[in-house]
Amino acid sequence: MKILVTGGAGYIGSHTTILLIEAGYEVVIFDNFSNASKESIRRVEAIVGKEIAVIEGDIRSREDLRKVFMAHKIDAVIHFAGLKAVGESVEQPLRYYDNNVNGSAVLCEVMSEYNCKSIIFSSSATVYGDPHTTPILENFPLSATNPYGRSKLMVEEILRDVYVSDSEWKIVLLRYFNPVGAHASGTIGEDPNGLPNNLMPFISQTAVGKREYLSVFGNDYDTVDGTGVRDYIHVVDLAQGHVNALDRIKNFKEPMTINLGTGNGYSVLEMVEAFERASEKKVSYKIAERRAGDIATCFADPSYAKEVLDWEAKRGIDEMCEDVWRWQSQNPSGYIS
Ligand code: NAD
Ligand code: UDP
Repeated sequence: MKILVTGGAGYIGSHTTILLIEAGYEVVIFDNFSNASKESIRRVEAIVGKEIAVIEGDIRSREDLRKVFMAHKIDAVIHFAGLKAVGESVEQPLRYYDNNVNGSAVLCEVMSEYNCKSIIFSSSATVYGDPHTTPILENFPLSATNPYGRSKLMVEEILRDVYVSDSEWKIVLLRYFNPVGAHASGTIGEDPNGLPNNLMPFISQTAVGKREYLSVFGNDYDTVDGTGVRDYIHVVDLAQGHVNALDRIKNFKEPMTINLGTGNGYSVLEMVEAFERASEKKVSYKIAERRAGDIATCFADPSYAKEVLDWEAKRGIDEMCEDVWRWQSQNPSGYIS
C-alpha cells in the first residue's frame, strides 16, 4: 500500500515514516518545508536504508496535490501538515485558518478527485480545552481557547461532514497528548525554529547550554508540586499508533476519534528531574508567571486506543528523556549542525 504523508519532513511525520516503511508500507512525503529541513528526510533514508519519494508542495495548492496523485496511486493519507504554535496562532489567526483548515479541505477535495478516501488526521488534546476532570475520555466536551485549537476542532468537524456526505470515506482522528522523545538512533528529533514553545525542547536546550534557564510557568496550580501536569508520549509510540490505525482503517465502519496518550501525568518539575537523570546535566530553572491559556492538568484515558487499535504506549519518561538527550547532545544545533 502506498501512503501519502503530508508534513512528512516534520517531527512526528519523520518518525512515522520510518515505522511505516519498517511495517512494509510505501511512503510518499509531501511537505512545503515551512517548518522542516530536507536533512531530516536524508536521515530517515539513512535509517530505513532506502530512498523515499518526496514532493515539495503546499496542501493549499490543488495543482501541487494533483501532481502527487497523478504520479502515485495513493491508498491512504496521513495528514500531519499544519502550523502548530499556539501563541503565533493568536497573532496570525488567518494564516492558521488558511494553512490548517483551508489546506485540509483542499487536500480532501483532491483526494476525492482521485478516489482516495482514507485519511488519518493529527488532532490534539487541546480540543478538550480545560477538562472538568482527568483522565480525559474521547466523549468529553470540546472547546478551544486559541485559533490553533479551533483549527483542529474545525478540521475534525469538516472530516465528519465529509463522511456524512459520502460514507465510503474512512477517517481516523488521532488526538495526541504531548509528543516528546526522538528516534533511538539520535539522528532525528524535534528541531524547533527559534525559541521553543514546548517544555521538552526548552529543557533539552537548557541542558545542552543553548539556553540559560527554563522558565517554569506557574507553581501554584492544584497539582502534586504546583506545576502543570501533562501526558508526555514518546514520538515513536505515537508513530506506532498511526501504523496500527492504518492497518485497521479499512475495517472501521465510521469515523474514529482516538486519544493517543500514556494515561500518566507528570509535572514540569518531574520532567526536569527526569531529564537531569538522563543527561547527567543540571537544568537551571526559575519560577515564572503562569502562561496565559494554560491548564493545570491534562492526561488521557488511553483505553479506547487499546480496544480499537490494540495500541498502548510502551516507553516511559526516562526513555523519552534519554532519547531526547541523545538527539540534542549529538545535534546541538538541530539539523543544521
Ligand atoms: P512539524 O511542524 O514538525 O511538522 C509539520 C510539517 O508540516 C512540517 O514539516 C511543515 O513544513 C509541514 N507543513 C506545514 N504547513 C504545510 C503546508 N501548507 N503544506 C505542506 N506542508 C506543510 O509539527 P509536528 O510536531 O510534527 O506536528 C505534526 C502534526 O501534529 C501537526 O498537524 C500538529 O498540529 C499536530 N500535533 C502536534 C503536536 C505536538 O506537540 N508536536 C501535538 C498535537 C498535534
Ligand atoms: N512549560 C513551562 N515552561 C516552558 C514551556 C512549557 O513551564 O518553557 C509548561 C507549561 O506551562 C505546561 C507544560 O510545561 O504546564 C507543557 O507545556 P507545552 O507547551 O510543552 O505543552 P502544552 O501546553 O501544549 O500542554
